[in-house]
Amino acid sequence: MPDHSAPPTRRSRTAPCRVLLLGGTGEAADLARLIPGRFGDDVVLTTSLAGRTKPPMHIPGDVRIGGFGGVEGLTAYLRDHAVDLVLDATHPFADQVSAHARLACEATAVDRVMLVRPMWRRDPLDRWIEVADLAGAAAIVGKVGRRVWLTIGISEIGAFADVADVWFLVRSIHAPSNPLPLKLHEIVIGRGPFGLLEEQRILQEHAIDVLVCKASGGAATEAKLSAARERGLPVVMLRRPPPPPGPRVASVDSALDWLAGQLAGGGPHRQEEVAG
Ligand code: NAP
Repeated sequence: MPDHSAPPTRRSRTAPCRVLLLGGTGEAADLARLIPGRFGDDVVLTTSLAGRTKPPMHIPGDVRIGGFGGVEGLTAYLRDHAVDLVLDATHPFADQVSAHARLACEATAVDRVMLVRPMWRRDPLDRWIEVADLAGAAAIVGKVGRRVWLTIGISEIGAFADVADVWFLVRSIHAPSNPLPLKLHEIVIGRGPFGLLEEQRILQEHAIDVLVCKASGGAATEAKLSAARERGLPVVMLRRPPPPPGPRVASVDSALDWLAGQLAGGGPHRQEEVAG
């Protein structure tokens, strides 16, 4: 009879590698799809989602949903599930979970890599106004426009609650469960990736005169910037929080290579430069 009371042990040479993939992004969904094909039984993969979007993003394979309960909860999860490696493919603005992953991995001596997408490249015709945070965006938006398209995520809309004399268009993955704390607004439902035609149509139909977005990077949400550039519109761009220290890769392919290096016993992976 197997001894179920014994705690799971860390990976031995023959055991599969247990990988926790922190997700919530298109890149994480790609990794969840590609890892089984590339590594087969050598990897046991679990993808973790915060559970903010309903229905959740479709992810193949084993998925767990919901917070871990801070650094302590994540540390316990890594120990209890004998996790060998953590792939942090969360959104560049999801700085809390990435900070927790760093500390939990340090506490458990689990190797971790962050997939940090490259920044968008600024075109000479772009009219970006960079701000440090949402408060900065809220302070400036009424000075540059009257019809504002907010593409920052519905949970953070409250930062604009006191902005007067401005109409907001809000794009959300799902209909909000509570009324938005905005004086004048309309909601459009949509889940990326978004194409240029779609973004041009939104700007035109709603007579948008300023866009507010996060410097998320990535192709899935880049078309709105091209559409704004074409119309000569200002874009209030929230700067990214700096990622926590630790090894980074900039693409799904590089994350797969990092994993291959770890499985081969390659030790610490080279840190890639993420274009700024
Ligand atoms: P956050 O501020 O960094 O994290 C807040 C808390 O949510 C974390 O402390 C953690 O709870 C939980 N959490 C976040 N990501 C998780 C994951 N993948 N699995 C399990 N728990 C997770 O994150 P956020 O900005 O709210 O983003 C939430 C999720 O949406 C992330 O997975 C992110 O990749 C995705 N996302 C975020 C943005 C954005 O603009 N922030 C945009 C697109 C997608 P506990 O402390 O209880 O563990």
